[in-house]
Amino acid sequence: MKKILIGTHNSGKFKEIAYLVSNKFKKISPIKLKIRSPKETGKTFKSNSKLKANFFSKFVNFPVISDDSGLCIKTLNNGPGVYSARLAKKKGSFNKAMKYILKKLNNKKNRSAFFVCSLTYKSQNNKIINVQGKIHGKISNKILGKNGFGYDPIFIPNSYNETYGQMKKRKKIKIDHRYLAFKKLKKKINI
Ligand code: IMP
Repeated sequence: MKKILIGTHNSGKFKEIAYLVSNKFKKISPIKLKIRSPKETGKTFKSNSKLKANFFSKFVNFPVISDDSGLCIKTLNNGPGVYSARLAKKKGSFNKAMKYILKKLNNKKNRSAFFVCSLTYKSQNNKIINVQGKIHGKISNKILGKNGFGYDPIFIPNSYNETYGQMKKRKKIKIDHRYLAFKKLKKKINI
């Protein structure tokens, strides 16, 4: 069976990407192979996504898929953006980071936000394909829902009345930014 390394230590992301990649691949986690995470030194989702794929591919002789993603909030100058994971680390938890964001947006009329996913596939022959998925929405007034991971409980995608965190797992996976990026990747390679 063909193998693919899903280059992330984030279990929420791993589950989503593993669900999207076809079952003809055996999906391998860097945690299982005891591969650490690289330092995210890039300033854009794209550069960090490529940096991760390049890093993880050094350890294996099969394809790698990596993503860099984050939540961009209009009135916070599109932050936390590439610093989404680091904000949660700085605040102590995602719950604390979400509370911090809700406080920052208190009384703000514009609650527009978008999620971005930059997805990079690197083949065993070092061919790189990068695609991006983006989904627009808004920040809820409260933390709502217990499903998903990260900032799911405060993001309501446009045309929906519930947060990612309130959606059933199967529903979120089929509409989110990672899915939109993956759809583009699927047009380019058989994955
Ligand atoms: P990184 O790509 O590993 O730097 O981390 C991205 C961070 O963005 C994650 O730790 C989450 O905080 C957040 N994030 C990315 N995608 C999602 C998602 O689908 N739902 C909720 N949070 C997400």
